[in-house]
Amino acid sequence: SPAALLGFDCNAPLPDAAGLFERRRRHFARPQKNYYRKPPEIERGWKEHLFDVEGRAYLDMVNNVTIVGHGHPRLSAAIGRQWSLLNTNSRFHYAAVVEFCERLAGLAPEGLDTVFLVNSGSEANDLAIRLAWAASGARNMLSLLEAYHGWTVASDAVSTSIADNPEALTTRPGWVHPVVSPNTYRGPFRGAGSTGDYVATVSAKLSELDDKGQKLAGFISETVYGNAGGIPLPPGYLEAAYAMVRARGGVTIADEVQVGYGRLGHYFWGFEEQGVVPDIITVAKGMGNGHPLGAVITRREITEALEKEGYFFSSSGGSPVGCVVGMTVLDILHDEALQENARMVGDHLKARLQALTDRFPLVGAVHGMGLYLGVEFVRDRETLEPATEETAAICDRLLDLGVIMQPTGDHLNVLKIKPPLCLSRESADFFADMLAKVLEEGW
Ligand code: PMP
Repeated sequence: SPAALLGFDCNAPLPDAAGLFERRRRHFARPQKNYYRKPPEIERGWKEHLFDVEGRAYLDMVNNVTIVGHGHPRLSAAIGRQWSLLNTNSRFHYAAVVEFCERLAGLAPEGLDTVFLVNSGSEANDLAIRLAWAASGARNMLSLLEAYHGWTVASDAVSTSIADNPEALTTRPGWVHPVVSPNTYRGPFRGAGSTGDYVATVSAKLSELDDKGQKLAGFISETVYGNAGGIPLPPGYLEAAYAMVRARGGVTIADEVQVGYGRLGHYFWGFEEQGVVPDIITVAKGMGNGHPLGAVITRREITEALEKEGYFFSSSGGSPVGCVVGMTVLDILHDEALQENARMVGDHLKARLQALTDRFPLVGAVHGMGLYLGVEFVRDRETLEPATEETAAICDRLLDLGVIMQPTGDHLNVLKIKPPLCLSRESADFFADMLAKVLEEGW
């Protein structure tokens, strides 16, 4: 165990470790659905595995933050060292903060060399929207239906789920203009549409704004469509959409919170898959391996526009400890070739999952790339009726077999696979074997 390597007594039991689920419900206000008859009470982790309070091991297939794996000893050591040296707010120019910003700018395309450090993906997207407002002098934002960008007020506003209830729809602010999904699996064109068909929904929205004489602030999207189940955008979609948005003075935002940082295996950033360069990149989750850390990376003239508007500052975003975490994650990604691992193990796992579509009609499709895959369950391959109840039952049965997985997507009929990027080939095979077993035996 890594804790033992560092001299901690990792066998000391947590005080009162029993009944965590009920206790969490009582005092921890996180609205979250439970899909399991007996939710696991997780106590510790190691690489892609989690262990509950009884010492039972689970393969963690839904973890989209802990990209270098659980319990990494290099992170424990780096955090301990920086914590004992200094941790405070990021007001002054600490070496760790400056160096981390330099490294992030070095990872971004040329020209995107100005970095804001924040604490989460939602915060990064809120700030990106404010930057787009300031740079364009306008308010109207386009975002994709079925997108998720966060839970704070602005990031939630552009998270335009098709499953929104009508009440929520009425509270969507007037500056948000949702665009029909370029979902190639179950969108209006169902795989038969050309990129032009999908992009036409963007131009239609822009024409509506033009007709009303309204100016555009920008366009935010993921580059592989997460909430829809990890579906890549149609080829050329962002190139065409970005051109239209920029022609109207709008700012383009690539939300890399989930897909960036090597998860796609074939690309470090998701926008590379689309062959575009956005004006603003937002990133979080994996960059801190679970430590609260996020960033907005953009061009100097865009940040200057907001600076003119006044004061903005995140007290704990970019703390020295946060920056050391961020740099150590980058070191580990590099030294352990984790993007390469995501590509190799992800390609292998995708092939194994795709083989299930021949055997089980319930498996409608396998989406995604690298270690960002989606298995979509449907009751009927013609109507694509979502197999929502079946998906929840499959997750519950997988838990019995030692795999943590949960339903996602607007119809809760997708297993979204986003494990730590250190997932071994053996663990990938274990997951594919267990899923086949559940589908064979029933649930
Ligand atoms: N954008 C995307 C694409 C996300 O998946 C998420 C989190 N699921 C967020 C933004 C929000 O990030 P956070 O939870 O760190 O606020």
